[in-house]
Amino acid sequence: MRIGQGYDVHRLTEGRDLILGGVKVPYEKGLLGHSDADVLIHAIMDALLGAAALGDIGQHFPDTDPRYKGISSVSLLEHVGALLDREHYIIENIDATVICQRPKLADYRPQMAENIARALNIPVSKVSIKATTEEGLGFTGAGEGIAAQAVTLLTEVANYCYDDPVMMQTREGGCGGCPGCQG
Ligand code: MG
Repeated sequence: MRIGQGYDVHRLTEGRDLILGGVKVPYEKGLLGHSDADVLIHAIMDALLGAAALGDIGQHFPDTDPRYKGISSVSLLEHVGALLDREHYIIENIDATVICQRPKLADYRPQMAENIARALNIPVSKVSIKATTEEGLGFTGAGEGIAAQAVTLLTEVANYCYDDPVMMQTREGGCGGCPGCQG
């Protein structure tokens, strides 16, 4: 098992769409950034990259590169998922929190989780999206920006066990602990 954490902040500004978890959330302001500034997906990508010790999103998607100007962060997340596949990592779960005074995000959380699960080709049951406020305190409380935090667990394929016909399970100890390939 490998754990990763990610954190991101973007400034709220007028004249931009508010994109969170790949959902366009109706609001009078949006997040400022080189890409679509999807702060939730950015935190999740950094958690995934961190768990795999594959650097950070600034390294993979530099904000000086015109290829990423205005790009959907969902497509960047797909790229991160492909990197993890290449390195033979399996995503056990993602748990993320958006810290945002306004707007209220509760209605949009299921669609955010679906977008993220689809981009990573994992079941939506592995993706938890939460939202909270900071009770009017700090920059999120003042509505100056939105923050997001994420944690994730990855399993190395060598520790993955297929011995349950319905539910794939993890078992530490590598292939020696798994009867899956022996039959
Ligand atoms: Mg960011």
